[in-house]
Amino acid sequence: MKHTAFLLAAALAASASAPLAAEPKKLLVVSVTKGFRHDSIPTAERVLEQIGKSSGAYTVDYARTDADLAAKMTTAALASYDGVVFASTTGDLPLPDRQGFLDWIASGKAFIGIHAATDTFPGFPPYIAMIGGQFLSHGAQVKVDLLVQDPDHPATKGMANPTSVFDEIYLIKKFDKAKTHTLVALDKQPNEGTPGFFPLVWTREHGKGRVFYTALGHREDVLEADWFKKQLTGGILWAFGKGVPPK
Ligand SMILES: [Zn+2]
Repeated sequence: MKHTAFLLAAALAASASAPLAAEPKKLLVVSVTKGFRHDSIPTAERVLEQIGKSSGAYTVDYARTDADLAAKMTTAALASYDGVVFASTTGDLPLPDRQGFLDWIASGKAFIGIHAATDTFPGFPPYIAMIGGQFLSHGAQVKVDLLVQDPDHPATKGMANPTSVFDEIYLIKKFDKAKTHTLVALDKQPNEGTPGFFPLVWTREHGKGRVFYTALGHREDVLEADWFKKQLTGGILWAFGKGVPPK
């Protein structure tokens, strides 16, 4: 635990070029699923809460049911949050106003997507454009070497390059290199080994909003790995506007 706390503190120090605001940000963690439901969702929730506590950067609230979405994700209710996480959400979520949600992000809010967040709203292209890519498929869980594409970003600063991970590795479609900033990718197809470019972690700007996505985190032991928590911490802080300016 001490080691984890140290890494998180280091990530925070590395990414916070400006002093933290006195008031912690408010983060809404959404885990409603309309397709596949990951067993690792409670672990993702716990890790997100731990990072908020150890960094002091944010507090968490949860939207776990359709009723929660109806109550907490109207455009009026969203005004009380600074960011939203889609923690392995799947399918067409019954948001009160899905376009209003995207507009809320574009107004200068944070959006963080974990793993199946790209397997969400498959029939709503504006959401896919906002998150920057769409889940295509995955093969068997496999060990891959994650290649850091930008060692200076708060989410990847200090990350071993390569970093080996055993996880379910997504293939992504509708990804546009020109509209995203890739942080982590593979240089070969995870299950077949054929050469190519396979993005897994990226950021983008959505209007005045900031988007951080990681395709990793199917497995609980990945979600709880120090390097993953450090990456997620840096990504969340960046999305909240703490740390380096957008690029
Ligand atoms: Zn998965």
